[in-house]
Amino acid sequence: MTPSPIVERAGSHSSLAITHIGELVTWDDDQPIRRDAGLVIEDGRVAWVGPSADTPSADDAIDADGRAVVPGFVDSHTHLVFAGDRAEEFAARMAGQRYEAGGIRTTVAATLAASEDELLRLARRRLAEARAQGTTTIEIKSGYGLDVATEERLLRIASELTPETTYLGAHVVPDGWDADAYVDLVTGDMLAACAPHARWVDAFCETGAFDADQARTVLEAGMAAGLQARVHANQLGFGPGVQLACEVGAAAADHCTYLTDADVAALADSGVVAGLLPGVEFSTRHPYPDARRLLDAGVRIALATDCNPGTSYTSSMPFCIALAVREMGLTPTEALFAATQGGAWSLRRDDVGHLRPGARADLALLDAPSHVHLAYRPGVPLVSRVLVAEV
Ligand SMILES: [Zn+2]
Repeated sequence: MTPSPIVERAGSHSSLAITHIGELVTWDDDQPIRRDAGLVIEDGRVAWVGPSADTPSADDAIDADGRAVVPGFVDSHTHLVFAGDRAEEFAARMAGQRYEAGGIRTTVAATLAASEDELLRLARRRLAEARAQGTTTIEIKSGYGLDVATEERLLRIASELTPETTYLGAHVVPDGWDADAYVDLVTGDMLAACAPHARWVDAFCETGAFDADQARTVLEAGMAAGLQARVHANQLGFGPGVQLACEVGAAAADHCTYLTDADVAALADSGVVAGLLPGVEFSTRHPYPDARRLLDAGVRIALATDCNPGTSYTSSMPFCIALAVREMGLTPTEALFAATQGGAWSLRRDDVGHLRPGARADLALLDAPSHVHLAYRPGVPLVSRVLVAEV
C-alpha cells in the first residue's frame, strides 16, 4: 500500500517558501503559534518565520491555502524491527486475558526465523507508515533477538533507518536462561557487538523482566561503553524503574503508568523526561498514566507510540495525541508539544521538535486549519504533506 500523503526531502529544494499557513506551530518563546504565517527553508533548515505577506521569495513555493503546519512528530519510543504479529494475543486480551511481559518471546521466535532482508523490508514499511502520518524523527530499539548475533543484526537494520538506535538486549530473559547469567551476556559480548550500532541503552525494569539491580548493571555497562541511558519503567505496576532512571541520569523513563508521589518528585527534580505511551494502555486496557499530575509537578513529558506487535501496534502519533487529550487530561496544545518538543527532549535533540529558525525543516502540513483538529478529528488522516530535512 502506498501512503497517500506526500513525503518529500526538504533539501531537494535549495530554498522553499511556504505561504498562507493558517496556523504555524513553531514553539517559539514569544509566539509559539502564529496565524496567517509564512516560513522559508534553506538547505534543509528553517531560515525565516513571519507573517505570510512578508515571506521572502525562494526557489520553490508551496501555498498552504490556510492549512496548519506543525513540527514533524518526534516518536521517541518504538520497537520497529520485528517479524510476525500478535493479533490473536490482542484478541484474547480483548476477550479478558491479562497481559504479562512474557509475550515478547513470541515475537523473538518470529524474528529469529526471519532473514535480514525480510526484517529490513518490514521495518522500512512501518517507517514509511509512520512518516506518512507525520513522524520525522524516530527512535528504534532492538530487543527481539536476545542473542548476540540477532541483537546486533536488529541494531544494524535500525541504524539504516535512524540515528536514534537503542540497544535493548535487556528486554526479557530468554527461555532457559538464568537472569543473572543473561545479564552477564547483555553487559559482555552482546554489548560489545551492539554498541557500535547504538546511541542508547535501555532496560525493561519490571516484574517478569529485570529487577532494579540487574537493570542498573545493564545501564551502567552501556554508559561505560559510550551509550546514553533510557528505561522502560513502571508500566505494569509500581516499582523501582523511575527511581533508577533518575539515579543513573537517564534521558527518559518511559511508560510511567504507576507512579508514587516520590517517583513524580524524582522526575521533576532530575529533569528525566517521562515518556507516555497511551497506545499501550489502549491496547492492554490498562489505566492511562496521569499526564496532568506530571505536568502540574513540573515534569517534562514526551508522547510516543511504543510501536510494537504485542502491546501497541500503532505507528500513529496523531492517534496518541488524540488518546492523550481524551484519556490523559492534556489539552490539544499540550499533547502536540509532548509529541514534538517533548520527544526532542527525550532524545536530547535541539534541532527537531520545533520550527524556530535553525531547526531542521521537518514538518507536517495538516488538512485542517489548526493543530486542535489532531485530537478533535480522531482517526482521520489529516497529515497531507510531510517534509523531511536532508541535513
Ligand atoms: Zn517499549
